Amino acid sequence: MNEKKFTAWCGLCCIDCIPSNKDLFNLAHKLEEKLSYLQFDEYAKLKAEKNPAFEDYPVFIKVLKEIKSLKCSMPCREGGGKPVCEIRNCVQDKGYLGCWECGDRRSCTKLDYLRSVHPSLDYHLDLIGKYGPENWISKRGIHYRWQKESAEKTKS
Ligand code: SF4
Ligand code: SF4
Repeated sequence: MNEKKFTAWCGLCCIDCIPSNKDLFNLAHKLEEKLSYLQFDEYAKLKAEKNPAFEDYPVFIKVLKEIKSLKCSMPCREGGGKPVCEIRNCVQDKGYLGCWECGDRRSCTKLDYLRSVHPSLDYHLDLIGKYGPENWISKRGIHYRWQKESAEKTKS
């Protein structure tokens, strides 16, 4: 695996991001197509006469479309990621490969939001600093905060 390719400017591992999950987006696309083919909206109206949960079918479709819109087709380093990202801009302006090369990283408030969602971010940046973006992924920690919370609950 080309690890550097999947090492985002901020130190996230693109492989672990939900927006890069091809299976998820293929399934969402297929589900939307199948529901449309079946005219499930009409069926939901019928079902809603006896089961009020089906009244929310349009909301479900709205959320399904929003899920599809999260898709990130390529790693951040290759042009994926958020269309506008102050972290990526900052790293590129400074001529770094990523935040792990930055002496101001510990006090950088630009990373605060990511830190709140990705509790391993600083651990990852330390790993990348130590092993390089080509050789850290096998040592990485948990990606999302809820995954960490679930793992801690399982342990206790
Ligand atoms: S878009 Fe920004 S926050 Fe997202 S992975 Fe790329 S550098 Fe990180
Ligand atoms: S100041 Fe440093 S740590 Fe913060 S976003 Fe810019 S390069 Fe990354």
